[in-house]
Amino acid sequence: MNEKQVQLAKELFEAMEDFYIIDAHEHLMHESNRTGRVVDVFILFSHYTRFDLFGAGMSESDYRSLFDHRIPLDVRWNLFEPYWEQIRHTSYSRAALLAAKKFYGFEDINRQTYRALSEAIAANNTPGIYQRVLGDACRIKAALTIKWGTRDLESPLLVALRPMLYELETWDALAHPEFEPDATIRTLDDYLDAVRRYILRSKIQDKAVGLKMRSEPYKTPCREEALSAFNQLKNGTCDRLPRNNPLRDYVMDEAISYATELDMVIAVHTGYWGDFRELDPLHMIPVIQRHPNTRFDMFHLGYPWVRESLMLGKGFPNVWLNFCWTHIISQKFATEALDEALDLIPVSKISAFGGDYDLPVEKVYGHLVMAKEDVAAALSKRVINGQMTESQALDIARKWFWHNPRELYKLQV
Ligand SMILES: [Zn+2]
Repeated sequence: MNEKQVQLAKELFEAMEDFYIIDAHEHLMHESNRTGRVVDVFILFSHYTRFDLFGAGMSESDYRSLFDHRIPLDVRWNLFEPYWEQIRHTSYSRAALLAAKKFYGFEDINRQTYRALSEAIAANNTPGIYQRVLGDACRIKAALTIKWGTRDLESPLLVALRPMLYELETWDALAHPEFEPDATIRTLDDYLDAVRRYILRSKIQDKAVGLKMRSEPYKTPCREEALSAFNQLKNGTCDRLPRNNPLRDYVMDEAISYATELDMVIAVHTGYWGDFRELDPLHMIPVIQRHPNTRFDMFHLGYPWVRESLMLGKGFPNVWLNFCWTHIISQKFATEALDEALDLIPVSKISAFGGDYDLPVEKVYGHLVMAKEDVAAALSKRVINGQMTESQALDIARKWFWHNPRELYKLQV
């Protein structure tokens, strides 16, 4: 960025400080899950930062011991510090540094600050922390969060999305579905009825606005093959189906159809996670084509399949692109993808931000700052090039952070 663009990006960023925000993806739980815990500096390194620590060579048991409060804080810090120095410049870590500065006034997380920072984090771990962080600091009006259990989310800021599929690879899992343990399942249709009841309950009781699935390699759904897989599990000729199986493909397809009837959005995790070869966003094309009336919200730009994901947004009217998680995977990739999306995709089809956090709610703020920086960088380039005015740029930013996710999920905020 030249000096002129840096200045303009700063102006756009500052103008975005007044925006209300829809946080288009979180894993936040009931607030007491956070406030009921003993916390210290390491809460800022729970969740996805662990992948960077593992990458730097930390063992899983050492990582777990960071959260074992029977071990003195200084012992845990000594264990953590060498790895922290290897990962402090990643995008995951930046969100932690921004959060430490905003909420606790510490310019850095290091040997000099970790004790006082830990005390400040513990003192702030009280009821109302969601409102203080999400509502007051971030100006978030709704955070779409994945709700697994039956417990109420109980915050006016949290709006539920529910998992689409539960385990269906063994007879035990089918006969006692986690989402309705007392269901009586004798036939495939019993199971489908239970799935439909679960989706309806999600919509009515949990006020869920969507279901979330993954972009796995799905085959064309076939009732006969699904029935045969179901019966093999039931009569014991097969103990466990492989992860990709015809029963899943059929149940998933029926669930999408039913959720669409109920006007729910289908959110899709694409790319990055574990063996991400299984999560290629292009796996979704036949599903997207089979359900032209379904609204699909593709998460994470399928990283590293960024171009493929952008093409899904370009090629299919029923696909939206959701930049949740992207800015903490890499700000460079997210900024470039926004830039390329401006060339390719209607401005109405993009949601700019979703924190993707569970316990470290403070990092939602850090991630939001990074998202605003990336949006400001992509848009300021267009303004400098004379392709749009500053006010057009801000209109687009407002769509991306507010109007688009609000309209896509039909949120009442
Ligand atoms: Zn997520």
